[in-house]
Amino acid sequence: MLDVHKRSGQLALKKAGLIDQFRKAMRVDATEIYVRDRKGTVYLHHSEEGEDDPERPEIDRAVLRRILLDALDPDTVRWGKKLKEAEVVTEDGKERAFRLHFADGSAAEGFNIVIGADGTWSKVRRLRSDVRPPYVGITVVATNITPSNPSYPAISDFVGKGSCMAAGGNNIIMSQKNGDGSIRTYAMITTPEEWKDNSGIDWTSQRAALIQFADEFYGDWSDELRALIIECDEGELAFRPLYQFPPGYTFEKDCTGVTLLGDAAHVLTPFTGIGVNVAMNDAYDLASAIEKVASEGLSVDDAFAEYEKDIFARATLNATRTDREQEVYFTGKPMSEVLKGLARAFDGSEI
Ligand SMILES: Cc1cc2nc3c(=O)[nH]c(=O)nc-3n(C[C@H](O)[C@H](O)[C@H](O)COP(=O)(O)OP(=O)(O)OC[C@H]3O[C@@H](n4cnc5c(N)ncnc54)[C@H](O)[C@@H]3O)c2cc1C
Repeated sequence: MLDVHKRSGQLALKKAGLIDQFRKAMRVDATEIYVRDRKGTVYLHHSEEGEDDPERPEIDRAVLRRILLDALDPDTVRWGKKLKEAEVVTEDGKERAFRLHFADGSAAEGFNIVIGADGTWSKVRRLRSDVRPPYVGITVVATNITPSNPSYPAISDFVGKGSCMAAGGNNIIMSQKNGDGSIRTYAMITTPEEWKDNSGIDWTSQRAALIQFADEFYGDWSDELRALIIECDEGELAFRPLYQFPPGYTFEKDCTGVTLLGDAAHVLTPFTGIGVNVAMNDAYDLASAIEKVASEGLSVDDAFAEYEKDIFARATLNATRTDREQEVYFTGKPMSEVLKGLARAFDGSEI
């Protein structure tokens, strides 16, 4: 589930002519959030339900993806084509051409612009940067509980219509209810990057493993919060170590005709819940820059340079903010500090 902000994500949807489809699919009731401490005590309950023009309506990730895909010509996306490498093949003055090599052994060419929108481990990025995104010290253990799970009714009441966050010590729990009722939980723990394989936990036996995991990282948390982890549907467990480029990061290499957007350009941790909005804001800015190439005769180099100046200024601001919230949520700060961190995210000024 994603909250799509008026000043960024919704702006991009407007420009793409998709705001009506978005508004039909958005879930305003899912803006409900409970913030709790490790014992389950509620410190904040907030919702935009009932507002005609909500600031941060939610939408399921899969539904947003469907709206975007449905707006494209059917052949625009070639599924199953995992990019291995983007290669520069010709250089004629400043005009370049590229060949794309795919994991299935095929190749495609005839492009003079390549935009890497391929996420944290972008294969396009190496044309602009050799820096690997650093691990931030937090790993997400993700669980999912569907309505057919016998534990679901009580867990569903506890989570509410939208999100439920609990903080306390060096770890947090964040749960979200999707449109189909399923409850996705991110247990976010402070731990080394290779923790999963060195944890001593036998992950092949899921329930026993999750009880051991909850005892180790959430030992004195309330039973309701521990249930969000332990009651995971069989086979739904996932691990996501988190990465982020530091404030000030920009591409250190030039390559005419190549740029990136979203996580590919500047992966952020999810502690302010803005990654999708930032990626859509980048898409909006890049589309505007490319329009200028067509309408004002701006060179691609200049258009991309202008775009990159904007996105990296924004990325630095956002990385500074996510670093600050990481410090608040994962270093045992009192709940009053956690609430201040959330208020900063809610005030909408983060992008
Ligand atoms: C645990 C977690 C929770 C999060 N929660 C939120 C949240 O609540 N709100 C929010 O706004 N953000 C959240 N984020 C961040 C958000 O998911 C990202 O910032 C956002 O998805 C970035 O969009 P993107 O299009 O740049 O990259 P992605 O969404 O990663 O999309 C990249 C695409 O490229 C494809 N791809 C990757 N490699 C290749 C390849 N080699 N060849 C071809 N295709 C490739 C992938 O399949 C994918 O479709 C969360 C992130 C994490 C890790």
